[in-house]
Amino acid sequence: MSGAGLDDLARTPLELVPGLTPKVRRGLHALGIENAFDLLTYYPRRYVDRTRRVAVAEAVPGEEVVLIGTIEQVRAVPTRHRSVSMVEAQLVDRSGSMLLRFFRQPWRTKQLTRLPGEVAVFGRVELFRRRRVMTNPLVDPIGTRVGQIVPLYPMRDGAGVDSEAVQQAVRSVLAYASPVAETVPRAVREDLDLLGREEALREIHEPRSHELRQRARRRIAFDELFRIQVLLGLVRRERDARQRGIVHDVAPFGPGSGRRVRDLLERLPFPLTGAQERVLREIAEDMHATRPMHRLLQGDVGAGKTLVALVAALFAVQGGHQAAFLAPTEVLAEQHYRSILGVLGSARESYLRTPSLFADGERPLEVALLTGAVAPRRRAIVLERLRHGSIDLVVGTHALLSEGVELPSLGLVVVDEQHRFGVEQRSLLRDRHAARAGSVADTLVMTATPIPRTAAMTVYGDLDLSVIDELPPGRTPIRTTWLRDRDRFWEAFDYVRREVEQGRQAYVVCSLVEESERLAARAAEQEFERLSTGELKGLRLGLVHGRLSSREKDRVMAGFRGGLIDVLVSTTVVEVGVDVTNATVIVIEDADRFGIAQLHQLRGRVGRGPFPSRCFLLAETDQPQTVERLSALERTTDGFALAEVDLVLRGEGTVLGSRQSGRSDLKLASVVRDRDLVEAARRHAEALLSVDPGLCAHPRLARELALVAEPDQLAYLLRS
Ligand code: ADP
Ligand code: MG
Repeated sequence: MSGAGLDDLARTPLELVPGLTPKVRRGLHALGIENAFDLLTYYPRRYVDRTRRVAVAEAVPGEEVVLIGTIEQVRAVPTRHRSVSMVEAQLVDRSGSMLLRFFRQPWRTKQLTRLPGEVAVFGRVELFRRRRVMTNPLVDPIGTRVGQIVPLYPMRDGAGVDSEAVQQAVRSVLAYASPVAETVPRAVREDLDLLGREEALREIHEPRSHELRQRARRRIAFDELFRIQVLLGLVRRERDARQRGIVHDVAPFGPGSGRRVRDLLERLPFPLTGAQERVLREIAEDMHATRPMHRLLQGDVGAGKTLVALVAALFAVQGGHQAAFLAPTEVLAEQHYRSILGVLGSARESYLRTPSLFADGERPLEVALLTGAVAPRRRAIVLERLRHGSIDLVVGTHALLSEGVELPSLGLVVVDEQHRFGVEQRSLLRDRHAARAGSVADTLVMTATPIPRTAAMTVYGDLDLSVIDELPPGRTPIRTTWLRDRDRFWEAFDYVRREVEQGRQAYVVCSLVEESERLAARAAEQEFERLSTGELKGLRLGLVHGRLSSREKDRVMAGFRGGLIDVLVSTTVVEVGVDVTNATVIVIEDADRFGIAQLHQLRGRVGRGPFPSRCFLLAETDQPQTVERLSALERTTDGFALAEVDLVLRGEGTVLGSRQSGRSDLKLASVVRDRDLVEAARRHAEALLSVDPGLCAHPRLARELALVAEPDQLAYLLRS
C-alpha cells in the first residue's frame, strides 16, 4: 500500500496542488478550504441529474422543481419601489421557456449574463398574470460540464468561485493525490463490500451513477467512523493498561452476591426487572475485573437506574469499600439520599449516632449526605467520618469534589446525570483518591438522556455501555396533550383540579427563564400568585425555585412528598429525580422553550405509580421545529425514539460536537442514519486492535488518526 495518506494531504497547502490558479485558491480559502485534504473532503451539497430532467414546458405551477436550461434575456426591470430592484431572465430549453424573477439581487444582471452553458434552477413554479414564473430561485451553474450527474458544491456569495470551479479544483487535487492510500484493511472492505477509497472519492465528487454515489458515501462515512472507533479503542486500551482497579468480590451476581445485596433484594417489595438483572451482571463482572470499570448506564426516566446504582454501591461496600454518589443538584442529592435510606431500611444517618454493631457482628450501613447546604457542624462530622472510613456511602453534589473530602477506601463512584458534569470533574474524584490508594475506583455514569446506542458509541465511546431497556411492570403510560391555544389552557388546570379531588397531586412547571435564576424565580412567584387566586384557587399550592434556601426548599418538597401540598409550582428544579408516585399530572407552561430531552425528563415526574397519568404541554406556536418537537412528545413516551427525533432536528453536530474535537470529523457519516456502519466500525476496530494494539501492521492508519486526535495524545497512545 502506498500513496498519499489523508494526513499527508491535510499537511499539503493548496499552493502545492498543481493546476490551482491564485484566483481559485483565494476562492477556496474563502470557502474555508485550506489544504488538499479539505478540498478532497469538500463534498457536494447536492447533485443535478440530467437523466431525470423535467422539460421546462412541463413544469407545473405549485410544484418545486429543478429545471435545467440556458439563461437568456437578462435585464434589470424597474419596480414601483425604488429601493427594490428586480432582475428578470428567461430559462430556456428545447421544450420552451420560463420567466425567472430576482428581487433585491441586483448583482444577478452581471452574474447571469456571464454564465456560459447550462444552469440548474431550483424553485417553486408560480402563476403570475397567467404566466408561469419562478421567483428568487436558486441558480447553480452547470456550465459546460459533461456527465449525467453534476455535483453542486456548497457556495458562499462573494467567494469568487462557482460550483464548476470547485469541481475543477477537486479534479486537480484528485490527480495530485492519486494513488490515495488505503487504510481500511482489505478483509474489512470485503466484509462490508466497501468501495476502494480512491474510487469512493472519485464517485462522491463525480458519480457515474446514483448507485455508485451511494456506495461512495457509505465508504467515506465508514472511514470517518472507523478512525473514531480505532482512536476510542486505543484510549480504552491505554487506560486499562495503565490503571489497576479494585477486584470487588461480587461475581457472579446472583443469590450468592453477598449479604448486603441479598438483604436489600429480599426487602424490596418487587423483583428486579430482567433488564436490571442483566445490567447488574455486566456491572458485577466489571467490578470484579482487575481493570477499573468505566461504564455508562443508560435508561429511560423511571427505568430503575438508581436502584441498580445502589446495588452496585453495595457490591463495593460489602467488601469494605466506600461508595460515592455524585448528583448534579441539591434537590436530587437529597432525593437520592432519602430514597437510599428508605430502601436500605436498617441504614442510619451517619451524623446521628455513633456506630454500633448488630448482634451478628456486622454494623449497620452508614450513609451520609454532603452538599453545600449541610451545616458546618454536620459537615465537619461527615468529613471526619469519611476520612475515618466509617461512612460507607456518601451522596452529594459538587461539594464532594472540594478539597478536604477524603475517601480513603473509595471503591465506586456513581455519577448521575453526567451531562451536567464535565469529563474532568467526573474523573477528579476518582483520580484524587486513586493517587493515594494506588488503585482506581470503578466509575458508573448514569444518564436518563437516552441517546441512540450508536450515538453513545461515538460520543461516549470511551465508556462501556449498559442499557436498561425495560420499564418496571405496572407503569401506566402517560398521555400527553399539547394545548396549542391560549383559550384552551384552562383545560389543563381543570384536569389538575379533578385529579386533586381524587386525592392525586400535580406539578406545574413554569417560566424557563434562562438568563438568570433571579428572573426565573420571580416569574415562578408571579405564576404561583396567579394560579393561587385563579385557576387553582382553593388548592394547596407549594412553590420551589432555585433562589429558595435549602431549608425552605426541603420544607416544600417534604410537604409535597407528604401530601400536604396538592400542586407543586416550580421552575425546572424538579427536572430530575423527584419521585412522588401519587403525582399524576404535570403541566408544562411555555413548553416551546424547552428541548425534547428536557420535556421528556419533566414528564417522567409522573406516571410513577399505579394511577394513569397525564402531561399537558402549553404553547402557542407554529414554528415548524417546535411543532415537530411537541408533536413527537405527544406521539411517544419512548425516550430513545425521542432522542432520535432530537438528533435529527438539532443536527448531529450540536450533540456530538460538544464532547471532543474529533467528532467534527463526521462530514458524511450520521450516527443515526448509519447505525449499521457505527456498529461495524466498532466491531472491526476492536478486532484489529485485539491482534495489533499498537497498530504496528497499520502504520498508515495510525498516522491518519492525526485527523481526529491531538499529536501529543496520539504519540502517547501508540507509545507501546
Ligand atoms: P430512574 O433513576 O431510572 O429514573 P428510579 O430508580 O428512580 O428510576 O425508579 C423509579 C421508580 O421505580 C422508583 O420508585 C423505584 O423504586 C421503582 N422501581 C425500580 N425498580 C423497580 C422494579 N424492578 N419493579 C418495580 N418498581 C421499581
Ligand atoms: Mg474492578
